[in-house]
Amino acid sequence: MSNQHHDPACIFCKIVRGDIPSARVLETDHAVAFLDINPVNRGHVLLVPKAHHATLADLPDHLAAETASLVPRLARAIQAATGADGLNLVVNNGQVAGQTVFHGHWHLIPRFVDDPVNWPWPHDEYSGDELGQMQFRIERELRGGSTDG
Ligand code: 5GP
Ligand code: ZN
Repeated sequence: MSNQHHDPACIFCKIVRGDIPSARVLETDHAVAFLDINPVNRGHVLLVPKAHHATLADLPDHLAAETASLVPRLARAIQAATGADGLNLVVNNGQVAGQTVFHGHWHLIPRFVDDPVNWPWPHDEYSGDELGQMQFRIERELRGGSTDG
């Protein structure tokens, strides 16, 4: 499994293959979850498909589904182990979105009441027919099919 789509220069491929150490908490045939070395909060886990795909948007549907299926179980375990009050599931897809390691991955970040994490997420508004136009454009792209298609 880990020999597929392997990039020898990729830090997460090296972790997947065991070439550099990581604090693993879960491993399946297709995915690995391990502690982020610089956690937002303690217990911050990275969930990584074993195959190298630069961003989450590049993942084949079946691999995305298999990897994402581990999220609820991981979330329960992280919250139970850390005593967190909640959890953010985050994907940084592309440099502009804050991605620094180009091997697609999910962040599971435990959250605590009054923790120092500030989530600056401003909300905009649509005007006129912008919302309908946007719906149309995205639906039209989706009719192009899936990556497993
Ligand atoms: P990104 O910014 O690409 O969404 O997230 C990359 C994450 O990988 C960062 O949170 C960073 O702390 C973590 N990271 C980078 N290098 C290593 C490493 O060698 N080991 C571990 N465990 N985490 C790493
Ligand atoms: Zn990789």
